[in-house]
Amino acid sequence: MSLALKRLLVLLRDLSLLAMLGGVAGLKLGAPVLGTWIGALLGAAWAGWRDARRAGRLMRWMRGDMEAAAPRDGELWGELAYRTERALLLRERALQAERERLAEFLSAIDASPNGVLLLGADEQIVWLSQVAAVHLGLDRERDLGQRITNLVRAPAFVSTLQSGSAEPVLMNGRALQQMLSVLVRRYGQGQCLVLTQDVTERLRNEAMRRDFVANVSHEIRTPLTVLGGFVETMATLPLGEEERARMLTMMSQQTARMQTLVADLLTLARLEGSPQPPPGDWHAVADLLERIGIEVEGLSRGRHRLVLPDPEDAALQGVEIAGSLGELMSAMTNLASNAVRYTPDGGRIEIAWTCREGGGAVFEVRDSGIGIAPEHLPRLTERFYRVDGSRSRETGGTGLGLSIVKHVVQRHGAELTIDSQPGQGSTFRILFPASRVHCRAAAPALQDARR
Ligand code: ADP
Repeated sequence: MSLALKRLLVLLRDLSLLAMLGGVAGLKLGAPVLGTWIGALLGAAWAGWRDARRAGRLMRWMRGDMEAAAPRDGELWGELAYRTERALLLRERALQAERERLAEFLSAIDASPNGVLLLGADEQIVWLSQVAAVHLGLDRERDLGQRITNLVRAPAFVSTLQSGSAEPVLMNGRALQQMLSVLVRRYGQGQCLVLTQDVTERLRNEAMRRDFVANVSHEIRTPLTVLGGFVETMATLPLGEEERARMLTMMSQQTARMQTLVADLLTLARLEGSPQPPPGDWHAVADLLERIGIEVEGLSRGRHRLVLPDPEDAALQGVEIAGSLGELMSAMTNLASNAVRYTPDGGRIEIAWTCREGGGAVFEVRDSGIGIAPEHLPRLTERFYRVDGSRSRETGGTGLGLSIVKHVVQRHGAELTIDSQPGQGSTFRILFPASRVHCRAAAPALQDARR
């Protein structure tokens, strides 16, 4: 039944009911027609008053926050309230779905390693990701609605924002020595999308690559120049036998220097470019230590007091290490050879292997040499970093030894630690993880003073 027909029937019902009652009352008073009319009028007034009350309730609900349930009246007003409430509910659900989608979208942007910032037409901050907040030193809550140029005043940023340039600019970030690349894109009605990217690492790598090429060129140019000079001298001057022999010795020294450098460069390139050494390749530690001992004795040639592990020691029997034998030899020999080169004659050099109680083991090279000042320690493993360049070169150093050690150590899941005091000597340790070491012997390896 249509709503209008239903309403008409209800009105007729009320009118006829009250008209009938009025008629009956009028009959008793001797005026049935008048009674019927008055009854019908009262019926119409009752219907009007009831409608007004229901409409009033609905209006009060609509004027309020509509949080409570809509008035549950019958007929037209009830239906109106129900339909309004339902429409609101559906809209609220659609809005909620939209809000969730927006939140998801924003959290996806938040997950980006780059910072994202949305600016309104007046350069006020509309939204910013956590990374952008960290990059630019902003507060995600407090700074919303603020003009960005009041908060970020770096000239490069301000000028790219104002010029509308589409090129990324570099500026300092909030963190120490952090460099940011900032890109501004305009959209809509003067709004801006600002993207920030931390390029510190990239710039550092580029600088390192440039330095590396410059260093290699420099390292090779020096012996080449010396060699060139000798070749020219020999070609142009009549030399005595003794002089010739002296020059040839020096030429062969320079050639050896270049060969060592190239060998170290190739080792580094191999370490950087090859997959990690397999964890299942086990080697006897006693054999490894014996070979290193022989190398050290050869390098020291009796100039130092050496304390080397005894390969026959019962504590070393059955102890194994997993990894690349060549790489491990190279790292350990580098440390041992440094100890020899940076310890004056008569000094003491001690090499030790200790199985740790909780698992893993320590390879240690301790010397009583010249030591290293604390400010140099963090940079020692950088390529070509030398505390004293001339001493390093005089003793045949390339400046790459500790870089090689660092790479080998990392590739074996180990850790390199350095303790040193100028004039008091140094201790270099490689801490191998339990996964790379089989320590069957219970007691730590005993060191045997061989000399
Ligand atoms: P180098 O070929 O110059 O020895 P390394 O990378 O092996 O290059 O070492 C880097 C620098 O660390 C050396 O130049 C030296 O100044 C310092 N160094 C390394 N080992 C020792 C040590 N045992 N005692 C003192 N200084 C050391």
